[in-house]
Amino acid sequence: MSYHSPIVVQSVLAGSHKAASEMQNAAAGHTHLDTLISLIRRTTGAESVLVQFEGDAPQPIAVELDCIEATLMRGRKRIGVLRAFGQGFGPFAESLLQDFAKLIVEQNDLWAQAHVDALTGALTRRAFADDLERAVASNRRNGAECSLIMFDLDHFKKVNDTYGHLAGDAVLRAVGRLVKRELRAEDRFGRLGGEEFGVLVAADVETATDIAERLRHAVSVAIVKGFEDVRVTASLGVASCDIEIDSVMSLMSKADERLYAAKRNGRNQVCTGPVCHRAMPYN
Ligand code: GH3
Ligand code: MG
Ligand code: MG
Repeated sequence: MSYHSPIVVQSVLAGSHKAASEMQNAAAGHTHLDTLISLIRRTTGAESVLVQFEGDAPQPIAVELDCIEATLMRGRKRIGVLRAFGQGFGPFAESLLQDFAKLIVEQNDLWAQAHVDALTGALTRRAFADDLERAVASNRRNGAECSLIMFDLDHFKKVNDTYGHLAGDAVLRAVGRLVKRELRAEDRFGRLGGEEFGVLVAADVETATDIAERLRHAVSVAIVKGFEDVRVTASLGVASCDIEIDSVMSLMSKADERLYAAKRNGRNQVCTGPVCHRAMPYN
């Protein structure tokens, strides 16, 4: 998963740009760039706009349209590209696009500071809570499935005490990376506090439990570069936005309750309701 998924406003049908933009940006968690994209379209006459950061999957481009582009730079480093597609552009469109490229980088950096935890790359607690609010509201409105996985690293204080704080930080960084690798683009991953995390998935409790078990296994076999002797496990609790959940608080406390049941039951396991799944054998 990535918080820098490309934003593509692909529609060429008059009137449908906004809907397409909102849909794509919401899916990528990039609504913070909507206003800029809309300004680019209005000032340059572009029919579609693509913002692509380094590392994003390549996106289909509208070959039948003219294209102008500007590089997204952070200092001297190229971090992506901004492209506008349309039926011909005016004389100032390219220089406008250059200025917008600078604004996009600034806006995105500010957004990341407020929303993304620098150590782990997970969403901040606040940003994650906003996503939870939206998921619970959507579940209330139209029954959209959602489940919350909460997990906490086991005996993490001992990792710090035995190997030092730098090792602890390296473990947190590695956990951030591997969890993101295991998740899909539409899943949300947040750091709720020190070594406690949340994962929000649009899935029922059975599927979320499978995902939780996959995460548990991935953490338990992780090798941390530079600190190869360190081993870490996690305890996980899963709760679904089902009928008994009427608020984000109750969803979080249900998942938390189950996380602590997993701790009490011996750690390195997933708890879903009354059931705890001890570590399953893997091939
Ligand atoms: P349990 O299995 O019951 O969760 O035990 P624990 O040792 O993980 O729990 P405890 O809450 O006692 O310790 C959490 C530790 O996590 C203590 C704190 O120093 C450490 N920690 C929290 N945030 C960070 C961080 O950003 N970096 C490092 N290196 N350690 C952190
Ligand atoms: Mg812990
Ligand atoms: Mg903790």
